[in-house]
Amino acid sequence: MNQEWTSTPTTCRGGKLFIDRFGRVVRSLRVSVTDRCNFRCVYCMAEEMIFLPRSEILTFEEIERFVRIAAGRGVRKIRVTGGEPLVRRGVPKLVQKLAAVKGIEEVALTTNGVLLPQLAVPLREAGLSRLNVSLDSLDRETFERLARRDGLRQTLDGIDAALEAGFSPLKVNAVAMRGSTERELLDFARLAREKPVIVRFIEFMPLDADGAWKRENILTRREIVERIHAEYPLEPVEGRGSSPAERFRFKDGKGEIGVIASVTDPFCDLCDRIRITAEGKLRNCLFAVEETDIRALLRGGADDEQIAEAVAQNVAQKWRGHLINHADFVKPERAMSQIGG
Ligand code: SAM
Ligand code: SF4
Repeated sequence: MNQEWTSTPTTCRGGKLFIDRFGRVVRSLRVSVTDRCNFRCVYCMAEEMIFLPRSEILTFEEIERFVRIAAGRGVRKIRVTGGEPLVRRGVPKLVQKLAAVKGIEEVALTTNGVLLPQLAVPLREAGLSRLNVSLDSLDRETFERLARRDGLRQTLDGIDAALEAGFSPLKVNAVAMRGSTERELLDFARLAREKPVIVRFIEFMPLDADGAWKRENILTRREIVERIHAEYPLEPVEGRGSSPAERFRFKDGKGEIGVIASVTDPFCDLCDRIRITAEGKLRNCLFAVEETDIRALLRGGADDEQIAEAVAQNVAQKWRGHLINHADFVKPERAMSQIGG
């Protein structure tokens, strides 16, 4: 990364940065490549969804151009997501293109793991730096109830394939929900102790397509840490940086867990992220209610500078933090799979 900053925080030697009213500089871009998925997780999708037609989805060339423009304004990290990114054909090719963009230091991807047995090696060879795999239960029936698909075996095989391909330590994400996750906290802790994986619990957020989210259904950071700590003593790991996860290691040195307390302890002050949806809508927050139509600019003949300025204006409007814990919280119209988690 170019560290040679000028005296004003809105520029670096490479040019202008995307910076919001509160001084947060955008370094990370989440790119959704599809709104489709081979699961129907209850906290994310509805059983019946209407998907975008192909013509509305950004092409790989359009994504690459947008990433190049963002990299020119200081974005350094890309995370490819969805929907399930690996159901879109040719994602390793996209990863290769993005990893080659000047200024991009890291391309990561979040997946449910089902297609990793075929794709872990091609992704590694394409230059993917990091991989996160979602796994909400180690029990087949609970898994099926949550994913609305019988996929535990495939996801576990996907985790093994990722480890064999060299994605180690691997981050495994579990949405922390009351009524399921709490029964398995110690099983997840053992997974983190026995395999080179860091299990990260994500508090359940109000982004489910069914609109069934209730505060009582969140398994909170406090409960997760207390219950695991009582069986396997934990200690905090310093150096969170801009990561949403708070890290804890087992005191006996056998592995690590993380907690993403998006609801009970939001980390908005550290947020350095923006997102672009599969159809090219730019969002400066998961919970944003306004978007900028980047696809219209990409397809409408806008030059790179005009697109960068549109992003800069969107970022400038970013709010200090989401309002999940406030009375005037407005749930975004889109579900998680349509935003890109
Ligand atoms: N399909 C991929 C997967 O499941 O990993 C990538 C997309 S998914 C939307 C990205 C992440 O968002 C996953 O880790 C998923 O568990 C998480 N997620 C989805 N809905 C959520 C919700 N309502 N609250 C918290 N996390 C959620
Ligand atoms: Fe699909 Fe991921 Fe959403 Fe589950 S969380 S339905 S795997 S996009």
